[in-house]
Amino acid sequence: MFKYDKDEQGIGTVTLDLPDAQFNILSEKHFADFEALLDKLASTDEGLKGLIIISGKADNFIVGADIKDFLKHETVEATTNVSRVGQRILRKIAQLPFPTVAAINGACMGGGTELVLNCRARIITDHPDSSISLPEVNLGLLPGASGITLLPRLVGLQAALDMLLTGRKVYPYKARKIGLVSEIVSPGVLQQAAAKLVRALADGSYSGRKLKKALVTRLLDGPLKFIVYRAVKKRVAGQTKGNYPAPFKIIETIRKSLGKKIDRALKNEALAFGELMVSPEHKALTHVFFVSSSKPRLEATPAEIGQVAVIGAGLMGAGIATVSLDKGLTVRHRDLDLAALGRARAHLQSYFDKKVKRRILSKRAGGLALNRYSSTIDYSGFGRSQIVVEAVFEDLELKRSIISDLEDQVSPETVIATNTSSLPITEVAAGARHPERIIGMHFFSPVEKMPLVEVIPGRQTSPETVATTVAFGQSLGKRILLVKDSPGFYVNRILTPYLNETFKLLEDGIAADVLDRYARRMGFPVGPCTLIDEVGFDVAAKVSDVMAAFIGNRLEMTDHNTRFLNDDRLGRKNGRGFYAYEHGKKGAADNTVYQLFDDPERKPIPYDEARDRLILAILNEAALTWSEGLIESRDTGDLGAIFGFGYPPFLGGPFWTMGSIGKDKLNDRLSRLAERHGGRFAPAL
Ligand code: NAD
Repeated sequence: MFKYDKDEQGIGTVTLDLPDAQFNILSEKHFADFEALLDKLASTDEGLKGLIIISGKADNFIVGADIKDFLKHETVEATTNVSRVGQRILRKIAQLPFPTVAAINGACMGGGTELVLNCRARIITDHPDSSISLPEVNLGLLPGASGITLLPRLVGLQAALDMLLTGRKVYPYKARKIGLVSEIVSPGVLQQAAAKLVRALADGSYSGRKLKKALVTRLLDGPLKFIVYRAVKKRVAGQTKGNYPAPFKIIETIRKSLGKKIDRALKNEALAFGELMVSPEHKALTHVFFVSSSKPRLEATPAEIGQVAVIGAGLMGAGIATVSLDKGLTVRHRDLDLAALGRARAHLQSYFDKKVKRRILSKRAGGLALNRYSSTIDYSGFGRSQIVVEAVFEDLELKRSIISDLEDQVSPETVIATNTSSLPITEVAAGARHPERIIGMHFFSPVEKMPLVEVIPGRQTSPETVATTVAFGQSLGKRILLVKDSPGFYVNRILTPYLNETFKLLEDGIAADVLDRYARRMGFPVGPCTLIDEVGFDVAAKVSDVMAAFIGNRLEMTDHNTRFLNDDRLGRKNGRGFYAYEHGKKGAADNTVYQLFDDPERKPIPYDEARDRLILAILNEAALTWSEGLIESRDTGDLGAIFGFGYPPFLGGPFWTMGSIGKDKLNDRLSRLAERHGGRFAPAL
């Protein structure tokens, strides 16, 4: 992992290059080697004047520490020690008796960033992947190998808190602006530029970059820092609702340590790291990290996709066309309605304009993307597509007739994916000449933002079709959940009892805005009443009808969706839902909705009761989907719930939560709910 050379002028270079790997990852098994090397470099025998630390990889410096190492340790004592060992080794870089320069090309993350913080200076390339970040907070941790101690001292309190609390990547120009790096160079001259810098540091002709910070920044980083602490604490409390301990620990650790001696600060850092590492939130978030990178097992080789045809230019069709174009595919778009195609085109234009404006895309790249888009009211140009995604109205006969048309237009190998939210794929494919190439592809709205796609093979779908569809979804940057063909698939299936329980709680007297607030406190990104308003009662009612026929009796499902529809409430789209909307802006809760309940009177329901009813309704249904073989594994069930509808990540997903509670306790709690609220809570397993 660590290659060492020395030139005639006494400048050493350590090249980081983990053998047989795409990325440099720091793991415990390399620590001894690295420490021995640093001890050797420090010895006078070596006679070094300066040192460069650089990566041997084409597009990354170090992407972080090996997370698996962390899981081995159980006690705070052991986890604090992990931090102390990391600190001891990396501090040896800072203590070398000559200047050190980190030469960064590509991503520098986590432990990599802590390593470069211990160098005297940092230099970065303008490679598109070049960035510096400390994403530990996303795993419920803080940087515990000297990062939290050193970063605020280098870039100031506010810039440090921003990096540490968001975990976001800092790209080269911002990095230079906040004083994280001294220079930006092109990748071809990185080594020479680093050598020049280290020589200048060694002969004293350069002593580091002096940053001129604005007066306000200096005040807030200095004498007025209490204002910053107060403001970020308030913001973090609002965002985390007390469910994520790491951001508070980060703020507290800096507050305790900044301005103190380094050794004292390092001790504080190690203890804070150790405490977080044994926390259930860290364990759950690590689980989420692993499941989010898991991929379905494929039994065939996917076909290459260059052109995708999309039918239907409504909400979903426009979104699917947008992400396909964005990922470099050619899109042929069909709708019967020219106005819908016009709206889709305008949607695309504004999407790419925004990307150009934010400098994510060059003007030229934005224009070229739109050149790959064309639309039609017939099927012309469809023959060149390797996959067609159909997103017309949710109507079985319509979808079947589209498939029948398509079979005359595209080759027998072309995959036909139907973006249905509730229709059984096997039924959609019934009557097709080639049912083996028909498959369900359930995108979520808004397609550009939602990270999950459910892929649902029908009874006759071939392994090749599955492989091509999964690979297509992945190429759009989505996580894929392979699900068996069953009403609601997975996500809507476990969402159904949650939304049903929402109506039950409302029927028992809770107010919609109170319930939404409870759900956000539980860790959901939006409350269930807002969610239904966003989805629309029309769409929700269609899914709910399908689900009611399937599990309505068991769930004691309510008919409130229909009551809302009959009261001309569609949610946000017609401005009437649980909330009132004016010009698309959400207003106050609309108290007239309570007339649609058997008992319109509102009564308080304690938070704990509402929480248990909502979460346990999800858990019980998820357990059933697993026993029915709907999902490949419990891990994929966790993935689907978190990325499909925002199940709270700190709970690790429904299956992780079940594991944390334990089967006996869970069934006990369910049985008690069943006694009080009805048989729908009877334990599933
Ligand atoms: P939409 O009503 O916004 O758009 C449907 C489009 O299909 C319309 O533009 C219509 O003109 C077009 N269309 C109808 N018949 C056609 C035909 N024969 N040929 C070509 N175009 C035709 O609907 P949507 O919300 O985009 O939903 C589309 C599909 O996606 C539905 O099956 C829906 O259940 C599913 N879905 C919707 C959501 C959601 O949140 N809206 C989420 C997941 C899946």
